[in-house]
Amino acid sequence: MHARYDVVVIGAGPGGEGAAMKLVKEGRRVAVVDALGEVGGNCAHVGTIPSKALRQTVYNLSRFRRDPVLSRHSEIKTIPLAQILARAHKIVETQVGTHQRFFERNDVDLYYGKAHFEDANTLAVLTDEGVVERIGFDNAVIATGSRPYQPRDIDFSHPRVFDSDKILQLDYPVHKLIIYGAGVIGCEYASIFVGLGYKVDLVNTQPQLLSYLDDEIADALSHYLRDLGVLIRNQEEYERVETHDDHVILHLKSGKKIKADAILWCNGRAGNTETLNLEAVGLQANSRGQIAIDEQYRTAVPHVFAVGDVIGPPALASAAYDQGRCAAAHIAGSADVPRVAEVPTGIYTIPEISCIGRTEKQLTDARVPYEVGQSFFRHLARAQISGDVVGMLKILFHRDTREILGIHCFGNNSSEIVHIGQAVMNQPGNSIDYFANTTFNYPTMAEAYRVAALNGLNRLF
Ligand SMILES: Cc1cc2nc3c(=O)[nH]c(=O)nc-3n(C[C@H](O)[C@H](O)[C@H](O)COP(=O)(O)OP(=O)(O)OC[C@H]3O[C@@H](n4cnc5c(N)ncnc54)[C@H](O)[C@@H]3O)c2cc1C
Repeated sequence: MHARYDVVVIGAGPGGEGAAMKLVKEGRRVAVVDALGEVGGNCAHVGTIPSKALRQTVYNLSRFRRDPVLSRHSEIKTIPLAQILARAHKIVETQVGTHQRFFERNDVDLYYGKAHFEDANTLAVLTDEGVVERIGFDNAVIATGSRPYQPRDIDFSHPRVFDSDKILQLDYPVHKLIIYGAGVIGCEYASIFVGLGYKVDLVNTQPQLLSYLDDEIADALSHYLRDLGVLIRNQEEYERVETHDDHVILHLKSGKKIKADAILWCNGRAGNTETLNLEAVGLQANSRGQIAIDEQYRTAVPHVFAVGDVIGPPALASAAYDQGRCAAAHIAGSADVPRVAEVPTGIYTIPEISCIGRTEKQLTDARVPYEVGQSFFRHLARAQISGDVVGMLKILFHRDTREILGIHCFGNNSSEIVHIGQAVMNQPGNSIDYFANTTFNYPTMAEAYRVAALNGLNRLF
């Protein structure tokens, strides 16, 4: 036995970091173990950060192209993908360095290697050098995240078959790409690759895109993705993927065939539990590799907690960090961090989407008498100045109490704009009147709230 800790955290992504930081602040001795050899988790290395960095370059490019003053003076036809990926990798490095300093400054002991349980209070860590280090613990937090689900009949080692991790290593020119799976990751990558000038076929296994969104927002996403040039094929299921040296063919159960230079598989994720030897601690994962938890993020074994993607939805970095903090608070007996309840949706397509609260359909089904206030970005001075005129903000509010029930935003910076509405919704006096009676900076995108509030209040009688 090398060392003994109050708590061992497996995984140095947002879930593990949230847990570790809270635990050290509560005076616990903490070890964090990660197989990647660096902190940041899949979030920083292959998920949120590189995909958002790529997206930003594509967004900058599209903005440049549509600005007549800039584009008249110099023309950018294409930018080599290698250069765009190199910028994304640089941002990953900076992020990893930042998080590394957080761990160091807070005296968290970091162990690099693949961990598995040996018994209820011992973790073994197999380092890259083949050494096994043993760590004793009183409590454990499993924050091992998730990975892309890979059906067995598809050869992911083929150079033209990618998942969302491997796509960051794409190193040859592609003209046409098939994206299979139109969840958040599939839609985000569709807008990235179409923005780079690729032909994109987005194959959706569902009848419409992101059906949990408000219908108007989901329709707007389909409309603008199509407008950018994405071919969306709804309600299709794969039969097989045929691979060749210079192309792939996707065979669909409907009998259709799609030929492209490469395929990006974005259909589902699985929890990282298969090598943890959970049985040794008395736990079992479900068929998706996910671990069941209670209200405090405690597993069926009382001294073991689990947070982040490994417990299933919402599978967001934002939620994972707060889940980690909440679990840590319960371990430390302080319980001063609430369970993660309402998480905003942030979808970084171009244009982006963000929502919180209930949709029109949910309110109608629940027979809640609501009213709608809308503001279209094309009418806002700030949007006209920036050129980001695509988008809208929709506020749903109770027509009697005026309580805000849902905020749905589509367009540039939606994921920031939504938080203004979220802050008001979370106040005891939650009312749409706040936006009608508060003076906002001008010109701003936040002005959309005033416009939408007045629009909605005008509908009342
Ligand atoms: C393409 C893409 C885009 C995304 N975009 C967003 C976004 O915009 N916003 C957002 O909020 N979320 C986004 N997500 C989701 C987000 O990345 C995850 O929700 C988040 O990373 C989950 O954090 P986590 O701490 O649970 O695990 P992870 O970040 O997955 O980290 C888990 C860590 O555990 C380690 N580990 C696993 N098994 C072991 C083991 N046996 N021993 C030691 N270490 C182990 C791994 O090496 C990894 O470093 C995106 C995901 C993807 C794939």
